[in-house]
Amino acid sequence: MVKAAVVRNNSDGYVDIKDIDLRPINDNEALVKVEYCGLCHTDLHVAAGDFGKVPGRVIGHEGVGRVTQLGKDVTNLKIGDRVSIAWFYSACGTCEYCTTGNETLCRNVVNAGFTADGAMAEECIVDAKYAVKVPEGLDPIEATSLTCAGVTTYKALKIGDTKPGEWTEIVGAGGLGNLGVQLAHNVFGAKVVVTDGNPDKLAAAKENGADLLINRHDEDATAQLIKGTNGGVHDSIVTAVSAQAFDDAVNSLKPNGTLVAVALPKGDMKLNIDKTVLDGIKVAGSLVGTRQDLKETFDFGAQGKVKPIVKTDKLENINQVIDDMKAGKIVGRVVFDFTGDKA
Ligand SMILES: [Zn+2]
Ligand SMILES: [Zn+2]
Repeated sequence: MVKAAVVRNNSDGYVDIKDIDLRPINDNEALVKVEYCGLCHTDLHVAAGDFGKVPGRVIGHEGVGRVTQLGKDVTNLKIGDRVSIAWFYSACGTCEYCTTGNETLCRNVVNAGFTADGAMAEECIVDAKYAVKVPEGLDPIEATSLTCAGVTTYKALKIGDTKPGEWTEIVGAGGLGNLGVQLAHNVFGAKVVVTDGNPDKLAAAKENGADLLINRHDEDATAQLIKGTNGGVHDSIVTAVSAQAFDDAVNSLKPNGTLVAVALPKGDMKLNIDKTVLDGIKVAGSLVGTRQDLKETFDFGAQGKVKPIVKTDKLENINQVIDDMKAGKIVGRVVFDFTGDKA
């Protein structure tokens, strides 16, 4: 029996802490003793049934732990390896997306904590080929946030073809945006402009390496950005859950610029057709990242180039943390500690 946080039968947005029995592992799988698992807004959507109701499902897709048992076909992991359990849990491995470096778009993708039991438990089963090793030099608590927010922003910066010395805009300076600023500045060597409506978040972005700050509530926000970047940005990564932020980001782009959509506000984005055609604007969506993207993100974390804000808590407090997250009271990420050490 293992202790796990499971979606309630009425999908009311909270979880029950239950003792559950894990099934035996298959030949391609490994058993992981979970050390830490972060709680993400996506987990809250799963618990509330927003993507379809999954009562009894173990939540959690920001997990890190050690391999304790291997199926007989597993060759890429060994007992004791520290691995991640991410939202991208597994895929078919053979379709046109899986074989062209776009595995997260696989139509048969499986998501941890939604379509497979996740990592918010003392133990978790993984598909060994899809469990990414966590380097020993990386703090396992920080690694939990890199499995989700970290790899998501890293991938978005890749999609935006972020370049050294070019301006990159990060729209929204929350959890994703903050890691985005660090990665754009420390890994890609870009000049970074951050747009947000909250002065405190802008100040935090400054500490993370932002070169220019724009308050999006200013009447002339776009004009300020165009002036400050001497003509606009090469790419704009939109992490703000606001359709208006998408509309504004298009107008921040210089010719041949790319808008990368990461956040998921309800509604449509307005795309100025003249600007799109005349300036050769590109628009791309970006969703989490592949195993290789995650491996690279972990390596940058181990090198100290990206550092998430994390704090640990006990699993018993998870529903209180859910309330605090809904109320916007949490800065950074709450990570649940399964190591038995004092949190
Ligand atoms: Zn997440
Ligand atoms: Zn596939």
